Amino acid sequence: MNTLKRRAAMQGRGRPVMATSAPADAPVDVAPNPACVIGPGQECRHPLVDAVTNQRLFDYERDVRARFTGVVDMLRGISALQHEPDFVERAQRIAMQRMEWPLPEELLRNAWVRGLDMRALHAHCQFHAARRCVRLAEAEQAPWRAGLALQVRELAECGFHTVDISPCADGRLQGVVPYVMRMAQDGHVLVKAYAGAMFDVEADMADWARRELERLNGAFDHLPRGDGALRYLKVAVYHFSSAHSAEQGCAFHASNDRQAVESAAARLDELRVAVERTYGVGAAPEVLLIGLDTDLDALRIHLPDGDGDVNPYRYVDTAELYRESLGMTAAQAREHIAARVDEAQRMQGWGQGYGSMRDGMRRLALALAEANLSQIEYVIRHHAGRYAVIGHDEEFICAGDPLPDLQLRNLFYLAHLDTVEEGVADLDVGMRIFRGLNLRQGLAVPILVHFCYDARVPSARERAAARARRVRDAIVERYAPLAADGMLHCRMALSAHGDGERCEFLDDPDSGSGH
Ligand SMILES: [Zn+2]
Repeated sequence: MNTLKRRAAMQGRGRPVMATSAPADAPVDVAPNPACVIGPGQECRHPLVDAVTNQRLFDYERDVRARFTGVVDMLRGISALQHEPDFVERAQRIAMQRMEWPLPEELLRNAWVRGLDMRALHAHCQFHAARRCVRLAEAEQAPWRAGLALQVRELAECGFHTVDISPCADGRLQGVVPYVMRMAQDGHVLVKAYAGAMFDVEADMADWARRELERLNGAFDHLPRGDGALRYLKVAVYHFSSAHSAEQGCAFHASNDRQAVESAAARLDELRVAVERTYGVGAAPEVLLIGLDTDLDALRIHLPDGDGDVNPYRYVDTAELYRESLGMTAAQAREHIAARVDEAQRMQGWGQGYGSMRDGMRRLALALAEANLSQIEYVIRHHAGRYAVIGHDEEFICAGDPLPDLQLRNLFYLAHLDTVEEGVADLDVGMRIFRGLNLRQGLAVPILVHFCYDARVPSARERAAARARRVRDAIVERYAPLAADGMLHCRMALSAHGDGERCEFLDDPDSGSGH
C-alpha cells in the first residue's frame, strides 16, 4: 500500500534540502521544511546532530519497511502462477525466498477451484512480517540502541527512575520514543498509547504505585541521583500537522489542535490530583506535555513551572531551535537552546507560570530538545525534507498490548485495550483509518490481537490467551459484516514480559478469521 510513495521517499534519501526550495526529486506538492531555511550553497547540517546514529536508524527503518512493502509484489508474482501444476510448491518456494515465512497450505491448495484468497494471504503476511520484526528486534536494533542520547542513566541524572509515556495511538507516533525523542526503551521507560493521548488515569495510578513500591524496595538504588530522590515522570504526547492542520491532525480530536493540547494537559492534571488525593500532598508524579508535528517530527516541549504545572501556551519549538542554531558551533547552539528555554519559562500572558522548573526537569527539557534535533535532520536528509506520506499509512491494527520493541512511524495503529467494550473508541478510530487505507483498495483489515503476561505469575499465560480470544470474538462480532465478507482478518499472539516468548501466535482452530 502506498508503495510508490514510499519508494519515492526512499529514493530521495541522503540528499540535503537546499535553501528554501524543495529538492529536485521531491514530489511537487511538498513544501520545504521550515526547520531548514538556509542560504544558497549551504546544507542542513546541525552541529548537535548525531549523523552516525541517524544512518543506522535509517538502515533499520528501510529493512523493516521492506518486509511489509515486499508483500504485495510477492503476492502478485504468486498470483500469476496459480494455474500451474506445481503451484503450491513454487508459491512456498517464492514465499520462503522473498519473505522467509511459509504461506498457509490450504489457501494455496484450493486456489485452482476458488482462486487465490489474496486478502487472507495479505493479512497472513502482515502478521508474519510483524512477528519477524519483533523477534529480530534485539539484533537489528543493537547498532543504534546504544547511540540514543537518552539512556536510563541520563534520565536518572535528571531525577527520574521511570518515564511513563502516553502518545496518541496514531501510527505516525509509533516511533516517538526511539526516533523522535531518542530515548532508549528499557524497563525504565513505559509506553502506553491511547487515542488522543487520553490515557487511563486509574491504570496509570496502578503503574505509579507499582514503580514507587519498587523504588522503596531499593530496586533503583543502583541508579545515579540528580537532585534528591528519584521520581516518576508521566509524559503525554499529542500531535498536529503543521502543513495540513485541519485534515491531518489528531483524528480522535477531529484535527482540532487546541482541543488536542488542552485535553492532554487536563488529563495530566487529573493524574496529579488523583495521586495527591489518594496518597497525600507531594506524592504526585512530575508531568511533561509534548506536542509532535507529525510532518517533520519536530517537538513542542511544554515547560512545567515551579509548581510542576504544564501550560498549553508555554513551550519551546524544536524546529525553531534547529533553524536558529544552524551554523553555530555545538557550544553556541547549546547555549542558545538553554537561553530560549529560560526565556520561555519567564513568558507572560497566557503562558505565564509560577516560578522555574526543577533543575533536573530543565536538564531533561534541554536534553530532549537537543536529541530531537537529530530526528529533525533525519527527516530532512532521509525523507526529503518532510514525510512523503504525511497522513496515515499503517500496515495493520494491533489491539491489546503494544508489540514489544517494534516502534516505527506508521507501521501499525495501536488500540490499547483490555476489553473491546472499554477500548471501543480507540478501535473505531483505527477502523475508520483502515477504511481509507485498506478497504478502499479492496484489501482486508488485518488486526493482530496481542497481549503480554508476566511469566512469573502462575497461569498468567492462560489468562492472557483467554483474554485474547474474548477480544478477538468481540472484534469479529462488532464488525460482523466486514468479517463475513472476508474483509477483516484477526490473529492472536502473546508475549512474555522480559525474557521469554515474543509474539507467539495462538493457533486457535476456530479463529473464524483464520490464517
Ligand atoms: Zn491522534
